[in-house]
Amino acid sequence: MSEFSKFYTWLFVLGALLITAGLAMAQDQPTRSIELVAGDLYRFQNNAHYGVFFVTDEGVVLVDPINTSTAEWVKAEIKSRFDQDVIYVIYSHDHADHTSGGEVFAETATFISHINAAGKIEASGRSAVPDVVFDTHLGMNVGGKEVWLYFPGKSHSDNLIVVHFPAERALFVVDVAAVRRLPYQSFGDYYFPDTLEALTAIGQIDFDILVPGHGSLGVRQDLLDHHSYLAELYQEIVTALEEGLDLEQAKTRITMSDYRHWGQYENWLHLNVEGLYRILSAP
Ligand SMILES: [Zn+2]
Repeated sequence: MSEFSKFYTWLFVLGALLITAGLAMAQDQPTRSIELVAGDLYRFQNNAHYGVFFVTDEGVVLVDPINTSTAEWVKAEIKSRFDQDVIYVIYSHDHADHTSGGEVFAETATFISHINAAGKIEASGRSAVPDVVFDTHLGMNVGGKEVWLYFPGKSHSDNLIVVHFPAERALFVVDVAAVRRLPYQSFGDYYFPDTLEALTAIGQIDFDILVPGHGSLGVRQDLLDHHSYLAELYQEIVTALEEGLDLEQAKTRITMSDYRHWGQYENWLHLNVEGLYRILSAP
């Protein structure tokens, strides 16, 4: 090997090492941000996951701590920006990717969830288990401001609730709706047709701003559009099953082409068809 090519070999190795180190650093540094939704409601981000917090004179109401390091970060941000403690932590549903890290607020907060979430959170070994549970709805008045929690029936899990901030005209909805983006992959822990009925119920809440747990902020119409997507996909699969189509035939036929411009269309359409086909063809 000539000196010249040795030099380039070393340069290549050095470059590869730097790229690896850079990737490792990027993995250590999650993407985090805090954005104002409206009024006193803020949304915070940890990579693809979002929670919200609501600032009042009495203290802060936080929904979905996400995980321990996110909770520690957002707790410090709330303290430095508003000089407030989190006095209520609401869990949107039992899934650990949204509702871990509650223990960070254990000294100051009361924990709230749907009644069906409590046992699952406890069984998962998380220490910050719900203190207050409810079944259909729960109204809160914190520092003179209203927060309403609704259980719309089974949808994504048997315990997902939506959180309404009437003065901000905003609704926080995790997992069961997204803004111009296909539902996540293959409908893990979903109930059908219950989800369609739940989305009808959510659509009856009086709000303008849709605040999802993944992806960008949206408006009321985005929730209705997400409902339409699911209702159409559901009908397509019911028809395919009635006609005796197997999964591969269903995947070929069902294109949902009106939604071609939505996020993750190329990646997740087949997974959506597969997931719902399996759920609807289960004995
Ligand atoms: Zn979930």
